[in-house]
Amino acid sequence: MSGSHGDREVLIVTDPQLDFCPGGALAVPGGDQIVPAVNRLARSFNHVIVTQDWHPAGHLSFASAHPGRAPFETIEVAYGPQTLWPDHCVQGTPGATFHPALDLARVELIIRKGYHATIDSYSAFRENDRKTPTGLAGYLRERGFERVTLCGLASDFCVYYSAIDAREAGFATAVALGASRAIDIDGSLAQALQAMREAGVELLE
Ligand SMILES: [Zn+2]
Repeated sequence: MSGSHGDREVLIVTDPQLDFCPGGALAVPGGDQIVPAVNRLARSFNHVIVTQDWHPAGHLSFASAHPGRAPFETIEVAYGPQTLWPDHCVQGTPGATFHPALDLARVELIIRKGYHATIDSYSAFRENDRKTPTGLAGYLRERGFERVTLCGLASDFCVYYSAIDAREAGFATAVALGASRAIDIDGSLAQALQAMREAGVELLE
């Protein structure tokens, strides 16, 4: 079966993992509700990639690694401000696995991120030091992709940073908001939507 999107287009499903769903360590409100929309969207693409947040225990982004700090506080680290999170998506744990109702059979690449102990990575392209590449841009170019559509969790963090970096790497970029959900702390969703619009990201239903 061939999707309605051609061979220059790829869908990137961002971090559809159990820890980001209700009941998980860093639950995004309604995170599990994206699954039917993601499955439907994926069927319309010939090429699908999934990202997986994949932290070692004691990761720098975990509030538990900083005595006296609480989740959702921001601290200064070597590369600038970093929001602290509850321990989540620890390598090899059940919370790091994908939602079981996702249809992943046709996924061509699973790209893991956040595995460097001292750098967080919201973006699928570049870690939070904004220098360390994940290799995804090179992979997409080598495969001849020109347009990237992003969806997943969360719209205002990993989807957002990935979309900005996709534009910067020269790809036409869209975000499918109906197949995404936001964390929305301190107005982060409105800010992300505005920044994406300004960067030329197409915002889809
Ligand atoms: Zn993470």
